[in-house]
Amino acid sequence: MNLEDLTKALGVSGFEDDVRRRILEAVGDAEVDDFGNVIVGDKSGVAFVAHMDEVGLLVTSIEDDGRLKFRKVGGVDDKILPGSRVVLYGEGIRLEGVIGVQPPHFQQQQQTSWQDLYIDIGATSRQEAESMGAAPMMPAAFKREYAEMGRFVSATAIDDRAGCWALIEAYKRGVDATFMWTVQEEVGLMGARALASKSNVRSAIIVDTTACCHPNFTGGVKPGNGPIIRIFDNYGAYNNKLARRVLEIAKKRGIPVQIGAGGGGTDAAAFFVSGIPAVSIGILSKYSHSPVEMAHKDDLKYTVELIAALAEELPRTG
Ligand SMILES: [Zn+2]
Repeated sequence: MNLEDLTKALGVSGFEDDVRRRILEAVGDAEVDDFGNVIVGDKSGVAFVAHMDEVGLLVTSIEDDGRLKFRKVGGVDDKILPGSRVVLYGEGIRLEGVIGVQPPHFQQQQQTSWQDLYIDIGATSRQEAESMGAAPMMPAAFKREYAEMGRFVSATAIDDRAGCWALIEAYKRGVDATFMWTVQEEVGLMGARALASKSNVRSAIIVDTTACCHPNFTGGVKPGNGPIIRIFDNYGAYNNKLARRVLEIAKKRGIPVQIGAGGGGTDAAAFFVSGIPAVSIGILSKYSHSPVEMAHKDDLKYTVELIAALAEELPRTG
């Protein structure tokens, strides 16, 4: 499973089937729990966790003229919506759409709210839109993009297919640990909350992207210098003792890591509140929550190496 294939899977929060299917194809002996999380391993010892879902849109209604109203799913900036291409999807259905934008010729106001926008699928009536397959409560993901540029990969949903990919890579290299791919992180860590509450793991290492970079939020970290140990974000400080241990192990093994912080939060918070020591490893991502997110190839490689080292060195019991 390469990263490109994973970023091309559609996985708006709550509608992750396409991502889950690809992960299940790549790993053997996986369990899917009642919430849609994927688990490989015995759910004890060290667990590595990445979320399958991505931010996107949900169609809410169809207007008489065939245009679709929508709501946002997760943290999507209104600024990136006008002019975006989207894909509506469901069981056996893929529909292309665009979010229309007023031509500069007609523009009177500068700021546009998502509530004033529509998805246009080329239908001119509600009946036509329905006959094409559109329906309320259908997810719409940003159209898939993938490009390699210099030492970077730019793609839709690098957050957190980069983490999903790193776990699959580690699994395929024979790393002995529990791996968990969660649902609905972007809308409140929902999958991880369900998973953590019934898990016996000794510690959880969350592998997610971290929005890069802003001196006030992230500190002086830089893409290419290794994944960051995310010491603090909007949920708090997680587990400093485990973070120190992760740093020691990385140093001992000569794996580049950086110390930083993040805005937002990660699934680590869900494990923390369930009484499981958790630390978040952040793959720095430029332009987070946009269709052109970028991650550095070296950071991806070091993240897999770090997972392998942590699986060997972190205690499994006690
Ligand atoms: Zn994420």
